Amino acid sequence: MPKLFIPGPIDVSQETYAAMSQPMIGHRGSEFEALYASLQPGLQEIIGTTRPVFLSTSSAWGVMEASLRNLVRKKVLTLCCGAFSDKWFDVAKKCGFEADKIQVEWGEAIDPEAVRAKLAEGGFDTVTLIHNETSTGVMNDLPAIAKVVKSFEDVLLIVDTVSSLSGTPINADELGLDVTLAGVQKALALPPGLAVFAVSEAAMARAKAQPNRGYYFDFLEFAKNAEANNTPSTPAISLLFGLQQILANIKSEGFANRVARHKANNKMIAEWGGKHGFKNFAPEGNRSLTLTCFHTPEGFDQSGFIKNLKSKHGFVINGGYGKIKGLTFRISNMGNETRETMQELIDAMDDVLG
Ligand SMILES: *Cc1c(COP(=O)(O)O)cnc(C)c1O
Repeated sequence: MPKLFIPGPIDVSQETYAAMSQPMIGHRGSEFEALYASLQPGLQEIIGTTRPVFLSTSSAWGVMEASLRNLVRKKVLTLCCGAFSDKWFDVAKKCGFEADKIQVEWGEAIDPEAVRAKLAEGGFDTVTLIHNETSTGVMNDLPAIAKVVKSFEDVLLIVDTVSSLSGTPINADELGLDVTLAGVQKALALPPGLAVFAVSEAAMARAKAQPNRGYYFDFLEFAKNAEANNTPSTPAISLLFGLQQILANIKSEGFANRVARHKANNKMIAEWGGKHGFKNFAPEGNRSLTLTCFHTPEGFDQSGFIKNLKSKHGFVINGGYGKIKGLTFRISNMGNETRETMQELIDAMDDVLG
């Protein structure tokens, strides 16, 4: 069975699969309410919030679109620096919202001062930011960008932490983030199908006055049900069993230790790349700690490398995403990986490189 080192979905442990295969329970009852409540402290810790954390049976895009639908009244500013952040602009347009963007080259980070200048033009009430742009391996300066956005009155900040949550601290309350969202198939190491998100009081107030929020992704429905430790519709209960097991793991490891482990594992890949002359696609100071995106050197048989790594050693890495497919390759260090498992991958890659 090949093991995934792609930046999502990632390898899922046998313990997680075992937790997910617990017998089904009904979702309107005390057993489910206890399950729901048990997830809150762990989710609140990794997001860095005292707000309730909502559970959406959807991939991350469900909540990315929902955040726009619940919050945008006037005009949204999307901060675009790669495949996922660029697409958020398109999604805002598809939803019929007024939207403008700051676009930087793929491989660059968003400049907080450019955000300040753009917001100063006026007319915006919402900003979208991808903390960790998984397509390019860029980690944006979330604290600095949040500080700029917060300096504008009545502008809400929606932050996608899909590939950083649980691998890097987010500190949502301290930074004043209005929506903090993530899917679980990235650093949380679960199978896909569930997204988690926290919403600030200011964002809840905005949503309340928003017409046509629909039902499935209505923030008010989530909030009302959360009070009773429940979800608006039948959730992916098996994934919640899995999430319970992952959060128990995080608790026993310690969140700070988990973050340090991700950082150390990420450094191993950076050093491995350095040894082989692979250049990082992301600029120094803005590099993801949960995955690495390398330039494909000229003349390097990247697809052969990836193919042989899989066929010879059973490890899967990714050959680039979107318009930089082939020009880059990406290696994930998210989730349950240890120094030992990263070393196995490195030894295998060295073997294939010869
Ligand atoms: C994977 C990813 C998404 C998309 O998640 P889906 O689960 O496919 O909806 C969005 N944003 C980032 C940063 C991602 O890495």
